[in-house]
Amino acid sequence: MNSKRHLGHTARKRFGQNFLHDDNVIQGIVSAIYPQKEQYLVEIGPGLGALTEPVGEQVEQLTVIELDRDLAERLRHHPFLHQKLKVIETDAMQFDFGKLYNDENLAEKGQKLRVFGNLPYNISTPLMFHLFKFHDKIQDMHFMLQKEVVKRLCAAPNSKAYGRLTIMAQYFCQVMPVLEVPPTAFKPAPKVDSAVVRLIPHQNLPHPVKDLYWLNRVTSQAFNQRRKTLRNALSTLFSAENLTALGVDLNARAENLSIADYARLANWLYDNPLVESKTEISDLDD
Ligand code: SAM
Repeated sequence: MNSKRHLGHTARKRFGQNFLHDDNVIQGIVSAIYPQKEQYLVEIGPGLGALTEPVGEQVEQLTVIELDRDLAERLRHHPFLHQKLKVIETDAMQFDFGKLYNDENLAEKGQKLRVFGNLPYNISTPLMFHLFKFHDKIQDMHFMLQKEVVKRLCAAPNSKAYGRLTIMAQYFCQVMPVLEVPPTAFKPAPKVDSAVVRLIPHQNLPHPVKDLYWLNRVTSQAFNQRRKTLRNALSTLFSAENLTALGVDLNARAENLSIADYARLANWLYDNPLVESKTEISDLDD
């Protein structure tokens, strides 16, 4: 039976609640995170504590961000962790991780945030993008996501999974898959396979752009028409001569360019402003 009830709590779909209950999977994730006593770990969406408890046992203090009021309240009264837990009851998408880093004086301590969580799948992509804004204050991130999303995050050029999400994630982070997780590891079981990914923000961005807007703009235009040649897909942004001068094969398609290529195109657009003004960039789902 795919019960929505787990440990006396009824899972709320609107909060993307699928609770982990497989001890082997939980242990695998905690070993991948490898928490050390004095590190500053932050869990997003602790829920009923499946990861909070084993991680909390290994560290001196643990900060958790939970949107569900009932779950936050349970954690404040957790039988053996409540003294170690700092429970922040809020929406992680709105949370200022930079302020947390400053308030905790992590720079003076030579530390950065270590963020982890079994993320609500409905907000996982925008939440990662929110976190990328604080990339220089984060040591690493471990997230449980839909397996498809992990594939896209880790993809290499010339593959179907390679897209805007890949480029934006790998622009900020080194990305690697850690563990695959079947639906049976959760209650209730989700309809899709899951996987854990590790993201380690680059100390120095390998392909910095002058304005992220243009990286978003050029990748969105290229991948929204990923079957077209770049000569056609990018024709409103670049002439064929410009593309060639920038080292782009006119017959290549969006998936054939590297992040370095896209960064070069974005910087050219920054240096050669178009008549059009900046437009809204749509969602990051390719
Ligand atoms: N960590 C638990 C586990 O592994 O069993 C729960 C994971 S469940 C997939 C996602 C958790 O994120 C839930 O506890 C949910 O209430 C919480 N959540 C959902 N949206 C959130 C948000 N915007 N900010 C913070 N927490 C959120």
